[in-house]
Amino acid sequence: MIDTLPPLREVIASHDLRARKSMGQNFLLDLNLTAKIARSAGDLTACDVLEVGPGPGGLTRGLLASGARKVLAVEKDARCLPALDEIANAYPGRLQVMNGDALEIDALAYLTPPIRVVANLPYNVGTELLVRWLTPPAWPPVWDSLTLMFQKEVAQRIVALPGSKAYGRLAILAQWRCDARIVMELPPEAFTPAPKVHSAVVHLAALPTPRYPADAKTLSRVVAAAFNQRRKMLRASLRSQSPDIEAILTGVGIAPTARAEEIPLEQFCALARALQPSPMT
Ligand code: SAM
Repeated sequence: MIDTLPPLREVIASHDLRARKSMGQNFLLDLNLTAKIARSAGDLTACDVLEVGPGPGGLTRGLLASGARKVLAVEKDARCLPALDEIANAYPGRLQVMNGDALEIDALAYLTPPIRVVANLPYNVGTELLVRWLTPPAWPPVWDSLTLMFQKEVAQRIVALPGSKAYGRLAILAQWRCDARIVMELPPEAFTPAPKVHSAVVHLAALPTPRYPADAKTLSRVVAAAFNQRRKMLRASLRSQSPDIEAILTGVGIAPTARAEEIPLEQFCALARALQPSPMT
């Protein structure tokens, strides 16, 4: 046992926390598993941790038991608050709970670096938050790492390499400024209730500087245009980016007949640099 609090099945029964589909609730009830996820976020003892969507608190307990300096947990469903209060009482001064929508609260602003983010969130909220965390106004971001549960197919898109079907905007966004890897895979039965899909935990560690130089907005625009028509040749999908697109592609070593899916991150960054308007224009 990782702590002296009651088992999660008892917590759920005593607080009547029947899972709600509308809130994307699929709970992890095995505390050994939540402790393992917490450990995959690395050494938390000197860190503030942001947890989004603690629910009945299985992962929260894992994070606290693994020694996190402080955990800030943002939960939308107010029914979970009494269960989370019990955890806060068991770890005096180390757990702060906020009731609200993580998409509307700037939770990172309440924490002191070093900061790590750990979450098991509904799919759509998780992807939206990931994109926001990966696109702060300045780099490096305020957080050191993100350890997030996703539908396995989304996790594969984050770590995908060129040449695979999963390779696209999410892979480039994540890998440009982070080391991203899948650290754990979980079958549907690991959750209560069991979802239809498999899940995976992705760990993203922020690099101090982007892997290759490029302007974030230009790179994002070029990659979006390239993958919006991923089956087309780049000279066609990127036509709107410049009247000289064929020459620019050739100039950075990309065949104008190539397709987005074949182009490595380094070449997308070179293309973004070539397409970036000069400060004089
Ligand atoms: N972390 C818990 C676990 O691992 O058992 C719960 C995971 S469950 C997949 C997702 C949790 O996110 C639920 O507790 C749900 O109420 C919460 N949630 C859903 N949307 C949210 C949002 N926009 N902001 C904060 N929490 C949210």
